[in-house]
Amino acid sequence: MLTGKCALVTGSTSGIGLAMAKALAGAGADVMLNGFGDKDEIEATRKSLETEFGVTAHYNGADLSKPDQIEAMMKDAAAKFGGGADILINNAGIQYTALIEDFPPEKWDAIIAINLTSAFHTTRFALPNMKKKNWGRIINTASAHGLVASVQKAAYVAAKHGIMGLTKVTALETAESGITANSICPGWVRTELVERQIEAKAKEGGISVEQAATNLVSDKHPSKQFVTPEQIGQTALFLCSDAASQMTGTHMSVDGGWTAQ
Ligand code: NAD
Repeated sequence: MLTGKCALVTGSTSGIGLAMAKALAGAGADVMLNGFGDKDEIEATRKSLETEFGVTAHYNGADLSKPDQIEAMMKDAAAKFGGGADILINNAGIQYTALIEDFPPEKWDAIIAINLTSAFHTTRFALPNMKKKNWGRIINTASAHGLVASVQKAAYVAAKHGIMGLTKVTALETAESGITANSICPGWVRTELVERQIEAKAKEGGISVEQAATNLVSDKHPSKQFVTPEQIGQTALFLCSDAASQMTGTHMSVDGGWTAQ
């Protein structure tokens, strides 16, 4: 379905991003991974995508809090992908929790830079090539927190509401260009980002990690089940399909019913 297409997935060395990269590679797309982690592990992941799916997989380790590194990554993608990525998934993200009055300003700045501003930069560099090709898919990993708020997550909620807005403007500005821009709004997915929150809650409440995980998911998801990274990968794949070519400027919630409440 995606043979001949190439995809840049930010924050794809683990969790949701890696699952999305695998889903796209599984459908035949060449991919560029991005994110932090152990060098050898990243190289093993990159190679395994090539051997498992018979696609070309690249890696660029740009720090997305740094606009100059984002620009260099987009130039690298343009060089490796013959003009640029057909599919851009803005997925890199971090979390920090504290009440507003205790929120370290540098944590606010980092979350806004990585979870929101980086998507502005990647998008502005990716669009000219997509417009030239008359085809493109931009998928922004927002969150249930792009739609509703929770305490102690001021920067994250602000960034995720912001990326929902950026998605809509991107969609309007590309509406006649064969390009779509949409957000995916996952609920709780048990990745490293969430594992840290579960561990903190276990410590805080003097309960087991598994009990803390059950409490966390049951509190927000009527389904009482975590969403899997693979389910988000398949959602991204759907947004790249022809069936979704008239879906633009909107979001897909995959949140066990969280935001229906
Ligand atoms: P994760 O920690 O497994 O993945 C985050 C990825 O971003 C990693 O590849 C990491 O290396 C990368 N990253 C972090 N800082 C970076 C930087 N400065 N430059 C480049 N890459 C950087 O967590 P995840 O849960 O898979 O998160 C992926 C996205 O999904 C995030 O945007 C997150 O907000 C969103 N999300 C997660 C959940 C959840 O429950 N896990 C729910 C909703 C939305």
